[in-house]
Amino acid sequence: MNTKKWFLLFAIFALFNTQVFSQVKDGISKIVIDAGHGGEDPGAVGSKGKEKDVTLTVALELGKLISENCPDVEVIYTRKTDVFIPLYNRSKIANDKHADLFISIHCNSSDNKTANGVETFVMGLHKTESSLDVARKENAAMLLEKDYKNTYGNFNPNSPESYVIFSLYSSAYLESSVQLASKVQKNLLKCTHFRDRQVQQAGFWVLHKVAMPSILVELGFISNKSEEAQLLDPTFQKALAASLCNAFIEYKNQVEGKTADLISVPETKPQPKKEELVPAKQEEKPAVSENADLKPVDEPATPKAETGVVFKVQIFALPEKLGPNDPKYAGLKNVDKYFEGNLWKYTVGSEKKFADIQPVLKKTKEKFPDAFVIAFKDGKKIPVPEARKLTE
Ligand SMILES: [Zn+2]
Repeated sequence: MNTKKWFLLFAIFALFNTQVFSQVKDGISKIVIDAGHGGEDPGAVGSKGKEKDVTLTVALELGKLISENCPDVEVIYTRKTDVFIPLYNRSKIANDKHADLFISIHCNSSDNKTANGVETFVMGLHKTESSLDVARKENAAMLLEKDYKNTYGNFNPNSPESYVIFSLYSSAYLESSVQLASKVQKNLLKCTHFRDRQVQQAGFWVLHKVAMPSILVELGFISNKSEEAQLLDPTFQKALAASLCNAFIEYKNQVEGKTADLISVPETKPQPKKEELVPAKQEEKPAVSENADLKPVDEPATPKAETGVVFKVQIFALPEKLGPNDPKYAGLKNVDKYFEGNLWKYTVGSEKKFADIQPVLKKTKEKFPDAFVIAFKDGKKIPVPEARKLTE
């Protein structure tokens, strides 16, 4: 089989594999903490320290803080020592344990020694070259595995062509992942005072196979001298862990409708020197804002504010805004969208009666098994039962 055929086969497999949906649970009782790299894989290497050591220290401290402050939560680590764990095994550990959340911890690096800042990723197709670059570096860990070509279906982490498979990615967990990512990003910015590289999407193998809300965080640049000094500082590491713990508590509170207290974060020394900062405008525009409530000003909540009550079928939600003929629609025509909770939500059909949307739902479910009916009144989203009462 030639490479193209391999990719097609693999893409189809990936599509089916990620469209086996299940619902996000309403409580958080198990979290998997994944310290990036380890053993023969040092990850990014700075002038004094290695990524694998920073990630392990922060991961263990985060787990300790969660155990102390959330005794109802079981903490599972993909590694607790300096050992090599294959990428596929990290997601397998999380899936086998039926965890509720997966957090992968990393440090960034760049040939540009002035690059700096914090960024948090959710799974998806990259929107910028710099996001692809991060995914490429993190996925390269698989090259250290003997049989990586068979294990990862001929995926080549260094070939941009390989990343096409992630354009088919969709998951019931994306919305929750973005929620968690936004909280992680917000808490880390508050503690580090690093530059905000925002919440982004990219094709990380370690997130791809995880069947639960999941994020990958890049704590800062170990290739940047100033950020490296902080990333290697024990107090700073404790502050990073405490900030991640607070993001977790905030997320858990939101999911469970609780108001558990946040923990205190150790004070950190401010800031990299000015000359080591790259102005934001020199780098590419990120895919997703960290502000969960931010709505693009040029777009109304629903593009067509139909009067009265209408029923539609939602097919998926994404942080990114897609064009009218995007391949993600799998051939569905006249896909509409609205913006809610930091995500673009994509719909098909528009019917005045609940009964009339049912054939649309049935047809849509052939391609999107997780599709469901939503309702609007005068362009504003309302609960479906309320819409039915108004129309029946
Ligand atoms: Zn890494």
